[in-house]
Amino acid sequence: MQKIADLIEAEAERADQAALDRGGELARAGAVQLVRFGPPRVTAEVDDGAACVEFRVVDETLVWHCSCPAGRNGAFCAHCVATAQSVRIRTDRKDSPEVPSATASVRTVRMAS
Ligand SMILES: [Zn+2]
Repeated sequence: MQKIADLIEAEAERADQAALDRGGELARAGAVQLVRFGPPRVTAEVDDGAACVEFRVVDETLVWHCSCPAGRNGAFCAHCVATAQSVRIRTDRKDSPEVPSATASVRTVRMAS
């Protein structure tokens, strides 16, 4: 299980800042619902236009898909980021610090909701 989580986290570090910001917001808002959480595959629904995210490991490589327009174009979109953060929380080791480096750069953005 650790492996896909690590691959997801590594990919999330390369996501662009806008996706990181938005994804962080969605994760904090509890918009991510992990549907399937197993070693070969992680799927989630994100309450943001009903986006469906899927992560799979194919030949040691992470493959992701999201149903939103950006995701369909292959981007590691905000929904992927939000799912990545939820996966990390789910797999968080007891010995790891509160804020791992992967998300330390995510700025806190307050938006009126
Ligand atoms: Zn998306």
